[in-house]
Amino acid sequence: MDITQEGTILEKKELATNIYEMKLYAPKIAGAVHAGQFMLLMVDEKGERVPMTIVDWDKVRGWIDIVYQEVGTTTIKLTGLKDGEKLFYVAGPLGKPSRVGKFGKVVVIGGGVGVPAIYPIARALKLQGNYVVSIIGAKTSNALVFEDRMKEVSDELIVTTDDGTRGLKGFTSDALRELLSRGRRFDAMWSVGPTLMMKACSDVAAGNIPNSFASLNSLMVCGVGMCGACRVTIKDKILLTCVDGPEFISYDVNWKELAIRLKSYMREETVSLEMLRGAGKL
Ligand SMILES: Cc1cc2nc3c(=O)[nH]c(=O)nc-3n(C[C@H](O)[C@H](O)[C@H](O)COP(=O)(O)OP(=O)(O)OC[C@H]3O[C@@H](n4cnc5c(N)ncnc54)[C@H](O)[C@@H]3O)c2cc1C
Repeated sequence: MDITQEGTILEKKELATNIYEMKLYAPKIAGAVHAGQFMLLMVDEKGERVPMTIVDWDKVRGWIDIVYQEVGTTTIKLTGLKDGEKLFYVAGPLGKPSRVGKFGKVVVIGGGVGVPAIYPIARALKLQGNYVVSIIGAKTSNALVFEDRMKEVSDELIVTTDDGTRGLKGFTSDALRELLSRGRRFDAMWSVGPTLMMKACSDVAAGNIPNSFASLNSLMVCGVGMCGACRVTIKDKILLTCVDGPEFISYDVNWKELAIRLKSYMREETVSLEMLRGAGKL
C-alpha cells in the first residue's frame, strides 16, 4: 500500500451500525490542526465537498481520524472505499479552533456522531487543567461510540440513551438539567450533536452556565467563505459557519433558522441518492 499520498485511507472500521472511523494520511492537516476544526473531502472528481470534524491526529506520523455516519450519497460512497484507496481531495484544517482555555469546571456534551467530534475538545480542556464532566448520548446502546475514549479525558462521564438501553434513559439535555438541579455549577459548556440537542442543552444552560459554545453543522458547500451556503444568524449578524465558526456562543444562535436551512436540499439529496442507486453506483 502506498500511504505517502495525501488522502490515502490507512484504516476504516465500523464503530456502530452505519458509523465508521476512517484514518487518513494527511500530514499537512495533521501538522496544523487544533481541537474543534474540520476538513473537507471529495470522494471522486464529480463528488460534493463534504465537511468532517477532525477527531484525532498524529502530527509526527501525519494521520488524521474522522468519524462519519452514513446519511446520503457521499457518506455511502466513503464506506465503499477500501484501505489503501485514496480520496480525490482533502483540505484543512478549516474553521476556527475551539475556544478552549482554563475555565475551571466545564461540561461537554456530545450526541451521536457529535461524541467523537467533542472528544478532542474534551481532551484539550482536560490538558488545560479544567475539571471535565462529560455527557454523551445516543438513540440506543448500539449507536453509542467513543465511550472509552471519552472516559479517558473526563473526570466524570454520564451516558444517556433515548431508549434506556445504556446509562440513563433520556436525552443529554435531561442529564444536564438533573446535574444543575442538584446544585452542580459549571463555568463553561460545549455541545456538539444534532441541532435540536444543542438547542435543548443551550436552553437548559441559559441563566445557569455563563459561557456556552455549540459547534454548528450547517449545510456547507465551499468551506472557505466564498459561497455563503453555511450562513447563520448569530445575535442579528449573518456569519459563516465555515470561517467564523463552526463554534459559536450557543445563546446567540438563531436555532430556528438553522433547523429550517438544514432541510433546504432534502429533495435534491434524495434524488441524488436514487439516481446513483438506479445507476448501480452505490
Ligand atoms: C463543520 C461540520 C463538521 C461536520 N462533521 C461531521 C462529522 O464529524 N461526522 C459526520 O458524520 N458528519 C459531519 N458533518 C455533517 C456531514 O458533512 C454531512 O453528514 C454530509 O455532508 C452528508 O453528505 P451525504 O452526501 O452523505 O448526505 P446528503 O445526501 O448530502 O445529506 C443527507 C442528509 O444528511 C443531513 N446532512 C447533510 N449535510 C449535513 C450537514 N452539513 N450537517 C448535518 N447534516 C447534514 C441532512 O439531513 C440531509 O438530508 C459535519 C458538518 C459540518 C458543517
